[in-house]
Amino acid sequence: MSDTKKTPKVEKITGIKGMNDMLPVDAPLWELFENTAQSVLKSYGFGQIRTPIVEQTALFARGLGAVTDVVEKEMYSFEDAMNGDRLTLRPENTAGVVRAAIEHNLTYEGPKRLWYTGPMFRHEKPQRGRYRQFYQLGAEALGFTGPDIDAELMMMCQRLWDDLGIADVRLEINSIGDAAERNNHRADLIAYFEQHQEQLDAEALRRLHTNPLRILDTKNPQMQELVNQAPKLLDYLGAESLAHFEGVQAILRHNSIPFVINSRLVRGLDYYNRTVFEWVSDELGAQGTICAGGRYDTLITMFGGKPTPSCGFAMGIERILELMKLSGEIHAPNQCDVYLVHQGAEAQMQSFVLSERLRDAGLDVVLHCASVSGIGSFKTQMKRADASGAAYAVIVGEDEMTEGVAMIKSLRSEDMENNQASVPFDTVVDYLVDQITGNDHHDHCTHTHH
Ligand code: ATP
Ligand code: MG
Repeated sequence: MSDTKKTPKVEKITGIKGMNDMLPVDAPLWELFENTAQSVLKSYGFGQIRTPIVEQTALFARGLGAVTDVVEKEMYSFEDAMNGDRLTLRPENTAGVVRAAIEHNLTYEGPKRLWYTGPMFRHEKPQRGRYRQFYQLGAEALGFTGPDIDAELMMMCQRLWDDLGIADVRLEINSIGDAAERNNHRADLIAYFEQHQEQLDAEALRRLHTNPLRILDTKNPQMQELVNQAPKLLDYLGAESLAHFEGVQAILRHNSIPFVINSRLVRGLDYYNRTVFEWVSDELGAQGTICAGGRYDTLITMFGGKPTPSCGFAMGIERILELMKLSGEIHAPNQCDVYLVHQGAEAQMQSFVLSERLRDAGLDVVLHCASVSGIGSFKTQMKRADASGAAYAVIVGEDEMTEGVAMIKSLRSEDMENNQASVPFDTVVDYLVDQITGNDHHDHCTHTHH
């Protein structure tokens, strides 16, 4: 008897609120998303970059702007106990990518298309579609000035949605002009909100003189009418900003990418200018934005780099996976091809050899191994084989050892008479490869057999 059953009761340590575990049942969905995104990004010439999850707090404070939601109240910041450095778990990855690009001179030879994926951390109120550790995939096009790259980024997103089978998502675009244009608008916006101060909620009052543009982004239903009537930034754009915005629209129209102009669209982060865009779904409740992006022409100089006009986006992977689930088109079973069942020491050794040879041939194989209750009877092992989702069980017992054969049993065949065969050890691999690759309507997992 093993000791595990006598373990005394101990208090369980739980995970952290708002930080989720990805379980194997969801792995095929994540894999499908990641593989699809990776191939779309590659088809547009984007190269992957991985930066650390921890950066100096100053990077985000400078990059995101001090009066943004993220820097004001959402950052996981701490002091390095060893040397007192002020560090932060990245709440987003544009700042990190830009830091790395400057540090490694990535745009030395011309503009660069980059992408990243990974976990981000924000201390938010956890709810559907809003977590404290969440995953983003993003792209940054560094050193590009025109509307062409802005449109290309949006078209790349459209291709990703198409490839993922996501249909009901709409592209909203806006231009927030340059700093001078925003300043003119800002003065009028503050004056307008001051005239209607009694209608502002506490958050809006707090932002009135620090970041009034963000009031336009309010989710408070009582303020929607007020905000709808507010001076529109689009009316303050100069000729150059307007031409840029027109240019983006012309490319989208020419390529039949539907979009709507949302004059209230601003970005939560301060460093954006001109083009901003969001992809929004109505199927996700309050957290409907699956991707947000825009142009940030001055960010890199704020970090001490040479002027490098740029444009990028970040998408929330959890929200996208939820849409993929809702679209119902995903059945990527997490299955294997073969489960090996054995009884007796010699048969176990033979099964090890067989399973390695099957893997050499490109099959996915699960070898039955001992658990708390021991190696288990044939019956127990066959139950495991069924539960594994394998297409075939390969059975080796003492009789089979004597005869030099394995019993191969189809676990999915409806034809109960004809569902097993006795196969000599040295032809087991060929037999199974034939069965599995020869069967056209065989619906197994993602890899291909050679
Ligand atoms: P929101 O208005 O929903 O707070 P945001 O403006 O803070 O969004 P961005 O910083 O632009 O979001 O991040 C890009 C995308 O990342 C969002 O559109 C969303 O899909 C996703 N995202 C942002 N915060 C979270 C979170 N806490 N949990 C899950 N996904 C998130
Ligand atoms: Mg936010």
